[in-house]
This record gives sequence, structure tokens and C-alpha cells, in this order.
Amino acid sequence: MANEVKADNGHVRHLIDAYLDGELSLERSLEVEAHLAQCALCRADHETRRAVSSAVKAGAPHFAAPDSLRKSVMAGIAAAAPAPVVAPRRSRPMLRGLALAASLLFAVGLGASVTSWMLQPGESDLVAQEVESSYIRSLLVKDRLIDVASSDEHTVKPWLNRQLDFSPPVHDFTEQGFPLLGGRLDYVASRNVAVLVYLHRQHIINLMIWPDADGAVAMPASAATRQGHNILHWRQGGMSYWAISDLNQADIAAFADLVRAAAARGAMGRE
Ligand SMILES: [Zn+2]
Repeated sequence: MANEVKADNGHVRHLIDAYLDGELSLERSLEVEAHLAQCALCRADHETRRAVSSAVKAGAPHFAAPDSLRKSVMAGIAAAAPAPVVAPRRSRPMLRGLALAASLLFAVGLGASVTSWMLQPGESDLVAQEVESSYIRSLLVKDRLIDVASSDEHTVKPWLNRQLDFSPPVHDFTEQGFPLLGGRLDYVASRNVAVLVYLHRQHIINLMIWPDADGAVAMPASAATRQGHNILHWRQGGMSYWAISDLNQADIAAFADLVRAAAARGAMGRE
């Protein structure tokens, strides 16, 4: 059907945050509205984001975002080029920038008052917040959890390698009770990162991996609990690892042990 073809080429999901914030020109707002009227996919996305947006507004009076956060959010948005409606692929950075901004505000707005951190203060606080935002967003927004669905590391790893400028270690732990569901690309700590998605007793785990300049020096795991999410962070073999889930601390620690052992075996060439 002609309408479907047109919709596939011109989805407006990358414009919805700007649309909701009243940042689009009248002409583009009308284009978005016309598309929403005919596309159930974008309409669902619009509903989700509108709900998040009202949650942010409801929470907004209770916090003041730190200047550093505001600056990094604005820098992220400024770095994203203006995107034409008919080029969804090239507009992805803008989508990610806006989604990041929205989810950061969401996380800060809802979480700031009850945060209890055990991570070292400073930059890693902000990174942990982004890790959590990415995790929450992946569960909230339809089709955001997994880009490549497979329990086969030989499918997931090449896919990630093609998307990234580094090669994350990928291992399936089905036998140990943590099956690999797949992977996705996400934007955390001002860079593209690999996210591996695992399942354990009906709980989703996100394992985020990216190269870390300090990562050559192994860092033992540090933990944080936040909004019922357990976060573990460690460095190993030149990579920074962040595992997050609503699993209990013992289970997420057991998972992290599996990942660390597999990465160590990989580094020794015994895979
Ligand atoms: Zn659409």
C-alpha cells in the first residue's frame, strides 16, 4: 500500500521529542501531526513520550539539574545535526540526543531525591545515571531493548562490530542460567556503546560495554542501588563494563563473575 511505503520512509519518531517540546516549526509540526494520524507505530511512540514528558514536568519542581548535566545535555543536542524528515537514518543522532536529554531529565526528576550511591562521586555518578536511563528507556519504549535478537554470540558480535569502532566481547551464558537475548547499540557517556541483553528468572539484564582509556588497569566491581535497580561497574582488558538489572545484588554479582571470567579467558586466547 502506498501509504505504508510512505510511512516506512518517513517515520517521525525522531521528531516527537522536539514536537512535544514545541521546538518544531509550524510546518514541520503539521507534517508530524499528519504522519501521526496515519501511522500507528509513531503514534504509540508519541503516547509513550508524552507520558514520560508529563512525568518529567510533574517532577520538575522538585529538583534543579546541576549545571554540568545541563551543559552535557545541551552539548549533545547541539552536536546532533538538524535532520530532514525524509532521512530517518541520518537523523538517528538527533533522536538519540533528544531521547537522552528526555531520559536524563526523567531519571533526575524521579530519582534525585532517593538516590543512594556507593560508586565513587563525580563523573561516574553521571555515567551511572546515563546507564540507568538507557536501561529504563529500553524497557519503556517499544522495540528499544534489542536491535539484533539472537542467543548466538557469532551473530551478535559481528553485528555489533559493524556498528561500532571497537569489538566488545560477547558470550552466551545459557548453561549458567543467563541466556543471551541479543544486543543493541546505544548512546551513553557521549559515545556509542554496545549493550548485551540477558535474561535471568524473567529479569532483564543490560550489560553495557565500551573502551575505556583507564580500562587497561583492572578495577574491581563497584555497586550502586537506585530505584530498585542494581548496577555493577568494573574495568577489565581496556573496556568499561556496566551491568544493570532489577535482579538482586547476589544474582547480578554472579552474572558479573561469569562475564569477567569469560572476558579473561578471551583475553588469554582460550576461547
Ligand atoms: Zn511512522
